[in-house]
This record gives sequence, C-alpha cells and structure tokens, in this order.
Amino acid sequence: MHVEDRGYQFSDGVYEVCEIHQGRLVDETRHLDRLERSLRELKIRMPMDRKALSHVLREVVRRNRVRHGLVYMQVTRGVSRRDHPFPSPEVQPALVVTAKSIDPAKGVKMAEKGIAVTTAPDNRWERVDIKTVGLLPNVLARQDAQEKGAQEAWLVDADGNVTEGSSTNAWIIKDGALITRHADRGILRGITRTVVVEVLAAEGLRLEERPFSVEEAKKADEAFVTSATKIVMPVVSIDGQAIGGGRPGPLVKRLRGAFRRHSELAAA
Ligand code: PMP
Repeated sequence: MHVEDRGYQFSDGVYEVCEIHQGRLVDETRHLDRLERSLRELKIRMPMDRKALSHVLREVVRRNRVRHGLVYMQVTRGVSRRDHPFPSPEVQPALVVTAKSIDPAKGVKMAEKGIAVTTAPDNRWERVDIKTVGLLPNVLARQDAQEKGAQEAWLVDADGNVTEGSSTNAWIIKDGALITRHADRGILRGITRTVVVEVLAAEGLRLEERPFSVEEAKKADEAFVTSATKIVMPVVSIDGQAIGGGRPGPLVKRLRGAFRRHSELAAA
C-alpha cells in the first residue's frame, strides 16, 4: 500500500467481503452490485470492468487454493499527493484483492455454542449504508465487546434501538416473527440479510422490518446475527442476559441450514 493512498490517509475507499464455500464465491453478483453502488455514492470509478474484476477474484481464490474462507476486495480513490479534495486530474482507483482460508469447523463450533453480544452507542456517521473502510467506531465497539468476553457489539441509536452489529446485521425472534431493522441509510444492507429475507419467505416464516430496542431484544425468544463471515450465527446473551435459556434456538438452527442450502445453489 502506497503511503499516499487515499484509503490509508483519509479512509477514502470501500470494500467487500465475499464468502468462499467449496471453492466458489457465494452471492458474487450481489457483492459486486453493492461494490458498484458504494463506489457510485463516493464518486469513485470502478478500477476495472466487472467482468475483469470477477476474473481477478476467481484467480486470487484459485492461486491461494482457498476452498473455504473469504475473499476481500478494497477500492480506494487512488494514490495522490495528500490533499482533501479529490485528485485533479483524476487518478486510477487502487484495487487490492486478498483471499484467506478459514477452517469451516470453526464456524460450526461457534454456531453450536452461540455468541455473546454487548451493546454500545452507535456513534458512526449518517451514511453507514456505504461500505467504506472507515470502520473506527466499529473497531472500538468490537474491542469493548471483546474486553467484556463477548464476540460482537450491537450498536444502539439515540432512541435506544439496535441498528446493527459492528460487522453484522442484528435480528431477534419473538412469537415466530423475525425482526430486523429496516434497511435505510442507518445500516449496511447486508447481502446475508437480503438472502435470509428471501429464505424465510420461502420457509413460510414471518418478517417484521422495524426498529427494536435493547429491552425488547433481551426479552426475545431467540436472536442472531448475519454476515458473509458468520452466515447465520445464534446470539445467546445480550449484555450478560441469557436469550432463550442461553442456547441456540430452533428457528435460528433451521435458518442456518436453509441458508447453507441456498448458498450451495448460489455459489458459482
Ligand atoms: N453490517 C456491517 C456494519 C458490516 O460490516 C457487515 C459485514 N460486511 C454486515 C452488516 C453484514 O453484511 P454482509 O451480510 O453483506 O456480510
């Protein structure tokens, strides 16, 4: 990374993380759609056309011999002498693609046990729907969670409602209904979240897209988070209070299985 890369100096860039399952990219089209949207919102050009980028992703996965894991891509506004306005004339956006293997047994084990979450104030900017590399509030919230022995932090807005996790979308289940905050500019519209919305419709489950408070979450029957890395991950405690008796519940288990079946179909 160049010292005058604008991603490094200004967090002037965006990223995507895509799951690799059985050597294939899961929901690649949706991830590339979101990458293009993030770039458009920040007026950064695509570093190469979509077909070429798709080819690069596959090559990085193949050359690193990744069967299960993640591919990370980052696009910044490029390298230019440090100055706040966009470089003029425009420079070539900088692309970094990496892939890493993850032992699939790790996620399975974590899902069997479930994770603990803490809560922290959501003090991010107002455009968190853009997947920028500016993640300092998320980093601090997650570190705070870790210091409290938890695996994720749920961010809470000024009204006491949970927006999302530091790197996941947040869900609760009450009386058979799945509740997650509506996707506006206040959360990242997770690809896994979108897929779960489709999966639960196919499973005949009820969805409520609306804000929910920390108090409501603590009284939920089940809770979980979604992301490309965690897929569907049961939450078994919130700020030390047990959810569903402190064990992963039946609906979350069912959804995780249904999601896996979907991603096996969607991996191309
Ligand atoms: N919210 C935030 C803040 C995230 O960083 C992520 C992970 N990139 C998500 C939600 C989940 O998004 P996805 O399902 O696309 O991984």
